[in-house]
Amino acid sequence: MKQNLINSLTEIVGEVNILHSGAEKERFTHIWKTDIPLEAKAVVFPNSTEQVSQIMKYCHRENQEVIIHGGLTNLVGGTETESNQLVIALDKMNAIQEVDVQSKTITAQSGAILEHMIDAAAEKQLLLPMSFGSKGSAQIGGVVSTNAGGLRVFRYGMTRQMVLGIEAVLPDGTIISSLKKTIKDNSGYDLKQFFIGSEGTLGIITKIILRLSEAPSSRSSAIVGIKTYDNVIKVLKFLEKNLAGTLSGFELMWQDTYKAMTGESSHLNPPLNSEYNYYVFVESLGSQPKEDYSRLENLISESIEMELIQDGVMAQSERELNTIWQIREDVSILAAQANYDQHFDISIPIPLIGELVKKATEELYKLPFVERVFSFGHVADGNIHYIIGKKDNTPEIIEAINQIIYKPLKEVGGSVSAEHGIGLHKKAYLHTSRSKEEIELMKILKKTFDSKNILNPGRIF
Ligand SMILES: Cc1cc2nc3c(=O)[nH]c(=O)nc-3n(C[C@H](O)[C@H](O)[C@H](O)COP(=O)(O)OP(=O)(O)OC[C@H]3O[C@@H](n4cnc5c(N)ncnc54)[C@H](O)[C@@H]3O)c2cc1C
Repeated sequence: MKQNLINSLTEIVGEVNILHSGAEKERFTHIWKTDIPLEAKAVVFPNSTEQVSQIMKYCHRENQEVIIHGGLTNLVGGTETESNQLVIALDKMNAIQEVDVQSKTITAQSGAILEHMIDAAAEKQLLLPMSFGSKGSAQIGGVVSTNAGGLRVFRYGMTRQMVLGIEAVLPDGTIISSLKKTIKDNSGYDLKQFFIGSEGTLGIITKIILRLSEAPSSRSSAIVGIKTYDNVIKVLKFLEKNLAGTLSGFELMWQDTYKAMTGESSHLNPPLNSEYNYYVFVESLGSQPKEDYSRLENLISESIEMELIQDGVMAQSERELNTIWQIREDVSILAAQANYDQHFDISIPIPLIGELVKKATEELYKLPFVERVFSFGHVADGNIHYIIGKKDNTPEIIEAINQIIYKPLKEVGGSVSAEHGIGLHKKAYLHTSRSKEEIELMKILKKTFDSKNILNPGRIF
């Protein structure tokens, strides 16, 4: 049986584009777990949409389960596999096909690396505003299928807001091509939306057209220390009001997290000392370098005078700018300091964040097995991340921690996943963000697209 699969796939993609008979063990399911060999029947690397379609036609006929591998950076177990499953890896479908300056669009195959696309747009003075720590590994297919967020959602929206066109292969091999560059299209259902944020459960994305923005000609950044959460919100409002639409990042980090990011176990130097309760990273993207810098600098000074901010540092060079944002982005520094790291990505209404995080942190530290609690996040979007380190990784310990983080969400109208998705790890908590009827409708959609449940089975619900 397995030999038939290998023979059929080899016919479709050629011998050099398939790993099997032990060679698949060179691969892994996550970029942070490269020492754990992949369990799967084989890994196949298609080179074209047509090949993806042929593979899925075969798998559909043979009831073969398939797991899609992009850049393997997701944080919800979405790319984990079992030994009876086939992996389709999009690595070789990585062409950036066009940057269209007039339409302000970029077209790429789904295996293109996000950072390469950002660079390709920048070469033409255009901005692909997605920005997050994994951009050097994440593939655009994975980014779209998880509707990734990141550091500039506040100004530019989630990935969904940038997708104009998608080509995808359905679980039965049908190719659905909706590759338009137009912003407006109300001719019936907007089918591309089904593939955005559905974590590869409804189809394999093969090609994407994204909307670009004019590249800003100035980027100014600061890091500030703040005493109370109340003042964090006041500073957000003050900057938003006075930066005339150029505020593009407002990221919050709690004191313990800042200490860990800039302390002995890190290669990053602290731009501010570590005495403040909250650290905010501010970014303004504009069109007048000198004026924009001065405007942000003056607003920070005014905030200090108004006693909203305790202290602040402006990035005065490209190098300082990168260092400041590395402190926010390089969360692998935190993961390295947290044994059996458990990650969270929740939404909470902005005014409630300070109190809820304080309460959750106190409750977590009361658990005898919790060692580290790191909190930080996209506070302007109401999105907080935790990385929690612990002494062991038993199901009971994981569950006790989940309960503390997820328990308050239903009551306050929050979400178990602001941006990372549900994958395998958060399935049990989907009901805290979604009603029974919503989950039922999701299941009906899954059945309609994938009647045999062969594509990314078991993800989301
Ligand atoms: C250091 C770090 C920082 C991060 N920061 C953020 C952040 O700020 N915001 C955020 O939203 N996320 C963040 N993430 C999570 C992750 O980077 C994003 O979810 C990313 O978009 C996943 O892309 P990927 O190519 O790695 O996808 P993968 O991890 O390979 O896959 C993710 C899911 O999509 C499916 N999939 C992959 N490719 C396709 C395809 N072509 N068609 C259909 N389904 C597909 C997979 O089966 C899986 O279910 C971060 C991760 C890391 C490691």
